[in-house]
Amino acid sequence: MIATILHGKGLAETLRAAARTEIATLTTELGRAPGLAVIQVEGDPASNRYVRSIARLCDGAGARFQLELLPATTSLATLLATIVRLNADPAVDGILIQLPLPAHLDPNAAIMALDYRKDIDGVHPINAGLLAQGRPALVPNTPAGGMALLRHYGVALRGVRAAVVGRSAIVGRPMAQLLTLADATVTLCHSRTTDLGAVLRECELVCVAVGRPGLITAEMIRPGATVIDFGTNVREDGSMVGDVDFASVVEVASAITPVPGGTGPVTNAVLLSNLISAARGLP
Ligand code: NDP
Repeated sequence: MIATILHGKGLAETLRAAARTEIATLTTELGRAPGLAVIQVEGDPASNRYVRSIARLCDGAGARFQLELLPATTSLATLLATIVRLNADPAVDGILIQLPLPAHLDPNAAIMALDYRKDIDGVHPINAGLLAQGRPALVPNTPAGGMALLRHYGVALRGVRAAVVGRSAIVGRPMAQLLTLADATVTLCHSRTTDLGAVLRECELVCVAVGRPGLITAEMIRPGATVIDFGTNVREDGSMVGDVDFASVVEVASAITPVPGGTGPVTNAVLLSNLISAARGLP
């Protein structure tokens, strides 16, 4: 069997187009464009690229983009004051704190200072708690994008046995909760899981967010399963690979996301959906 490739680019374009239309409506309703503020502490070149891509995304969708660039030596007090100011700014609907922060700045303190209603990355514990309770929440973009991709390709979720590998607050854990909300029966795996292959072979759906190239091999996958790879690992030659050994798993699975070009493109597009929700006052 050769798996269907679940490309994310087409869906990302569709989501961006839908967001553009909705943002135009919102702009009329609000009398201003929805606004996204990104707080970036200088020093990480990868962050510069990401922030530029968010700026382009907002620009293309008609949202207002605002960068709060702080020097690498900035104090926690200055960072928190910036967050508090943006929380109170009625023209700012969404706030994104670009992580990782330099070592001297406590990311948890920054996240706790966020107004959860503007937390479009879904990192605030109130949003995590709302999601855990199955209530409307601002959900982290990567797992929300994974769900959008599954729905787009009509992958059955109700009653299926699903495994999520990786339990981070930003990808694995919320993905497990979203799948549970979609009526899948979910096993959440991590570095201490005994015999990962035996767990995964039971499952019709496997989602992986670990950060280890080639961790998931063909013999760990049930024939005909769907495999979603969130992993983004940059090799020495600069190329990007996922956590799944694509070349072997593609022969066993019925559907699989490529890396790059699978979950990645959808993630950013989902950010716009969260900005729209926040501008509408949800949750
Ligand atoms: P974290 O490092 O926060 O979490 C990694 C998780 O993997 C942990 O729960 C860890 O377990 C688990 N793990 C580590 N080794 C193993 C193993 N051998 N077997 C099973 N589980 C293991 O990573 P993130 O969640 O932030 O990111 C995961 C991947 O997703 C990365 O490649 C990252 O680049 C990518 N990513 C992709 C995005 C996208 O848009 N596609 C966005 C964000 C991240 P334990 O808890 O026990 O330590």
